[in-house]
Amino acid sequence: KNLIVALGEVVVDFIPTVSGVSLAEAPGFVKSPGGGPANMAVGAARLGAKVSFIGKLGDDMFGHMLLEMLEQNQVSGEGILFDPEARTALSFVTLRADGEREFMIYCNPKTDLRLKPEELNLDLLRSAKVLHYGSVSLMLEPCRSAHLKAMEVAKESGALLSYDPNLRLSIWPSPEEARKRILSVWDKTDIIKISDDELEFLTGCDKTDDETAMKLWHPNLTLLLVTLGAKGSRYYTKNFHGAVDSYRVKSVDATGAGDSFVGALLCKFVQDPTILENESKLREVLNFANACGAITTTKRGAILALPTEAEILALINGAKSQQGKPVWVV
Ligand code: ATP
Repeated sequence: KNLIVALGEVVVDFIPTVSGVSLAEAPGFVKSPGGGPANMAVGAARLGAKVSFIGKLGDDMFGHMLLEMLEQNQVSGEGILFDPEARTALSFVTLRADGEREFMIYCNPKTDLRLKPEELNLDLLRSAKVLHYGSVSLMLEPCRSAHLKAMEVAKESGALLSYDPNLRLSIWPSPEEARKRILSVWDKTDIIKISDDELEFLTGCDKTDDETAMKLWHPNLTLLLVTLGAKGSRYYTKNFHGAVDSYRVKSVDATGAGDSFVGALLCKFVQDPTILENESKLREVLNFANACGAITTTKRGAILALPTEAEILALINGAKSQQGKPVWVV
């Protein structure tokens, strides 16, 4: 078994043609495929993993464009359905001068989250080595039940469950509802990746130290990862914990960095599951995943910016020879 299955949303991001302006001031936007689970899927496939996607798209031009994009990127779309009454979700993303973002998402959840439990491709889920998901698909029925059933079927067949909540507060009815739903699958998941902002949001603490991260630990968890943007990532397992620095790059758009980081990690996990038990192997993989996330921030758009293995190794080897000076300038 070496298949990664990603479950959830694939959307069209609209990225302003210039940085550092508000949505209202932006002179124009460029279409760019995105959506957390889809970014992870393409990221892992670009690094050589076998990946399938499960989700539902609007039966419109954008929906068909996104399926084609996934398949061109070697992500199998056999688990994707089209809904004639749904519109594919759009997300307008502002790029601040420092590469951080604000989102304005156009998705009508009543039509967008229509995947039903009985529509799941069970064969795909049963053959998965990893099932990866976010939290958007937990927002509403019937998609929530489909999401929970997918977790159950994959787990029963021996898959590892991987979770990146990818919090987008603006699409939830309230912060309390977002927190409750995000935490509802917490103790069933084996690998969880959150950002430092999500750590603050989920714990209600204004610190992101180890003690705060430990508040989110649960006994069934194999690996908890906290990503810290330019500062790299931290890892926690039952037996060890630590931090791995990222690389100095010229960031222009942070969209998809976290998803690309997880894609690199899962790709390495399916090749060698012992990375979760061996600290030095895990640190090596996180160094690779950090470099992958870092490169993703050097170009506009999420999926358009996902790197190949050769680009990641060039950054890692270049940084070694230049001793920490910025090595990747776009
Ligand atoms: P997203 O929600 O866009 O998917 P995230 O907030 O979940 O992103 P980040 O912490 O921004 O995730 O990024 C993931 C990883 O990518 C970081 O742990 C780091 O290794 C790398 N990274 C991100 N931004 C930068 C940066 N500006 N410079 C260097 N590395 C970065």
